[in-house]
Amino acid sequence: QRHMVLKREMEGMEQMKLVSELAASIAHEIRNPMTVVRGFIQMFQSDEKVDPKNRNYYSIMLKELDRAQFIITDYLSLAKPQKEEEEVIQVNQVASAAIEVITPFANLNSICVNSTFEDEPVIYGNVGKLQQCLINIFKNAIEAMPNGGTLHVSTSVKKDKAVIEIMDTGIGMSKEELDRLGKPFYTTKSKGTGLGMMVCFSIISNMEGSILVDSKVGSGTTFQIIVPLYNNNY
Ligand code: ADP
Ligand code: MG
Repeated sequence: QRHMVLKREMEGMEQMKLVSELAASIAHEIRNPMTVVRGFIQMFQSDEKVDPKNRNYYSIMLKELDRAQFIITDYLSLAKPQKEEEEVIQVNQVASAAIEVITPFANLNSICVNSTFEDEPVIYGNVGKLQQCLINIFKNAIEAMPNGGTLHVSTSVKKDKAVIEIMDTGIGMSKEELDRLGKPFYTTKSKGTGLGMMVCFSIISNMEGSILVDSKVGSGTTFQIIVPLYNNNY
């Protein structure tokens, strides 16, 4: 059984705004003390007299701190930057850059990444945010394939829209899971933040776009990001 959801706009924008502001301010506050702690651990670790057994513990401490840092970055990306710089975006360039960022992570998880750029869609918006959105979706796709698989990314132009399709051969989602996708803090992962998709929906809805999700439990998920072409707006 196959399920489809079309999310045109964020549900509970007000609730989301409140959550984002709180999360962003906490994230900012926590970052500084963590940087100090990280510096000291690095200093202890590089001490030549350190017992090799302890050196291993220092490595674990650094890794765990970095993981915490990664979670905090998820929250920080919710905070709206001071300036919303918008420009003409070559979709294929941003998609390639996002693929490049995620490829090492894909390789670690025995996942083959391939892409098909059929057309050269041009849209209008914030490049950094679009890239963040793609990385979040790629990361979820990879995490949905614990035993390896294929991540396929394609871009095309359909009528007056740019379409970015992200397909995985992973675990898929049930209708109930799809209904909750993108709600603040919804996660099925023990180490998840439940914020990645909320950020994606918010970014794409700000670009007057929509995200279409098609999923089948046990066989995979396809995300379609649909955004108006630049030419059509002006
Ligand atoms: P997180 O990744 O931290 O859990 P997200 O908002 O990115 O938070 O995703 C929310 C949930 O949606 C995930 O925990 C997972 O259950 C589900 N999900 C997202 N993308 C996929 C996918 N490609 N395949 C299967 N499940 C997915
Ligand atoms: Mg995620």
